[in-house]
Amino acid sequence: MASSVTFLPGHYTPAAGEYVCDCVEGHSWRIDLVGHLFPPFPPNCSARTWQAARAAGAPDPLPGRPQV
Ligand SMILES: [Zn+2]
Repeated sequence: MASSVTFLPGHYTPAAGEYVCDCVEGHSWRIDLVGHLFPPFPPNCSARTWQAARAAGAPDPLPGRPQV
């Protein structure tokens, strides 16, 4: 739990993975490629930043998920 880097909508994604907003709802957004743009927040979302959702001890993402 050392570093929690945050990103703004419209910024480039530094890595593929799942990101969560910082509002109480905790909206998540999965990004599959480096260099995508962070999306705007959902209409009911009061967040201001995205951050990587890397739960401690979580296993690597499972292969074979649907392609977008
Ligand atoms: Zn949200």
